[in-house]
Amino acid sequence: MDKTTEPLLAMRNVSKRFVKSLDTAARIANLLGANAREEVVHAVDAVDLTVQRGEVVGLVGESGCGKSTLGRMAVGLHGLSSGTRRWKGENIDQLPPAERRARQLGIQMIFQDPYASLNPRMRVLDIVGEAPVAHKLITAREQPGYVEALLQRVGLDPAVLRRFPHQFSGGQRARVGIARALAVQPEFLVCDEAVAALDVSIQAQVLNLFIRLRDELNLTYLFISHDLGVVRHLSDRVVIMYLGRVVESASADSVFARPNHPYTQALLASAPKLEARKTEFFAVQGEIPSPLNPPSGCHFHPRCPHAMPRCSAEKPALKEVSPAHFSACHLNDQH
Ligand code: SF4
Repeated sequence: MDKTTEPLLAMRNVSKRFVKSLDTAARIANLLGANAREEVVHAVDAVDLTVQRGEVVGLVGESGCGKSTLGRMAVGLHGLSSGTRRWKGENIDQLPPAERRARQLGIQMIFQDPYASLNPRMRVLDIVGEAPVAHKLITAREQPGYVEALLQRVGLDPAVLRRFPHQFSGGQRARVGIARALAVQPEFLVCDEAVAALDVSIQAQVLNLFIRLRDELNLTYLFISHDLGVVRHLSDRVVIMYLGRVVESASADSVFARPNHPYTQALLASAPKLEARKTEFFAVQGEIPSPLNPPSGCHFHPRCPHAMPRCSAEKPALKEVSPAHFSACHLNDQH
């Protein structure tokens, strides 16, 4: 493939399974003849995700849909249970560890809770400046000037260089987290609910910072959020996940103007309520399958008003329903 058209990141058919080991009581019960089994959770199930250079892809879904797990797989924080992850065309998971770590610097993650992700005992100078020195991007002597320039870039006064995380407001801590991610000169940022913990007015400022940084540094983003307003504001393309699978993917304009999948339609129709409740959009206990209780057929089946007999037995494939607009629903097979 031509290097200029090759996706920056291409994840093909990736899955992530977590195994919950038996506790002591279950192991003892097994010794007495019980048949307790380890629990396997399919957090991400056969997902394809490609991101082109310069693109902002919004990854949307409610709590437990697998979006954060997929983000961590993209960054390399979670290994893949199956599938492949290509960075600039190269299968980086097959590289020797040192080479993989070097490539991995190009993909950085920004976390939801900047306070929890910043070491409270470290000064900003070290929080931001440690990794570029460790990876030999700069020398120790260059560190203070390098960190000062990064702080300015994210809208912080360089005079805060020697402060600790607790001496900052939430918005400032978010900016320190962004400076830390930028310090290793990444090309691709995975932002996991990066503004969810902030007040609305601060959210807008930080979102504007992301937009400015994208232009200044030619960055690519995977922006993970449950907040449709945030995603619409920022994204070129939107990917909707439900229970570990992608159910719809298209340009942001197309998804918001012509949602195809019944789940996406319901998600958009319920956006204000979703925002108020934050999580558990459809999760009525016992009624909806979950990653712990995976359905055999279409994961949307229990609430879908269009369900057909085949929907309960067969997972629908993602199909192109209009140019560059993909949806996974058996309804599309009828046309
Ligand atoms: Fe509804 Fe069937 Fe489509 Fe699932 S595949 S959303 S159950 S029509």
